[in-house]
Amino acid sequence: NRAAALARVEGLIRDIPDFPKPGILFKDITPLLGDAEGFRLSIELLADAIEGPGPEYIVGTESRGFIFGAALAFHLGAGFIPVRKPGKLPADVHSCEYQLEYGTDALEVHRDALHRGARTLIVDDLLATGGTARATGDLLRRLGAELLGYSFVIELTFLNARQQMTDAPVMSLIRY
Ligand code: AMP
Repeated sequence: NRAAALARVEGLIRDIPDFPKPGILFKDITPLLGDAEGFRLSIELLADAIEGPGPEYIVGTESRGFIFGAALAFHLGAGFIPVRKPGKLPADVHSCEYQLEYGTDALEVHRDALHRGARTLIVDDLLATGGTARATGDLLRRLGAELLGYSFVIELTFLNARQQMTDAPVMSLIRY
């Protein structure tokens, strides 16, 4: 059942204090990925949470969003669109800058990645400040896509990212 599956997934997420820098409690999903049943359950739980007509495309953000996003796309029979750090995608791109704690970073997507009105779902491993997810949402808007929602394995609720993501429903499996 769902509660047991969620408990299994949660038990495979490891806390690493002070990584990558002091004061950050890093949620390490590598034990989950390495556990065949846990990984499968995490994908099934993400799929079960989707309501209404399914996405035509899963949009995954570099780099852990590729892992969950590609597996979910395969499971659903959807396409997968990678959103990448600058300079990685070879064809024409849209680029979106977003704020980091110190300075800015950017994300890119291919301009011809999808057709206007395509139903899309953004997937990443973890929602922290939401900067990454909002930048990805902006890129999809510029492509003319329909954004069905944002899905995460983990949400750090104390950062209140959800309150600033009003354009589409936000779903997470495990909240801290
Ligand atoms: P944000 O843009 O602040 O929502 O950050 C989200 C991205 O940073 C995700 O792709 C996560 O993989 C990563 N991230 C942020 N905080 C953590 C954390 N405490 N543990 C693991 N990954 C994190």
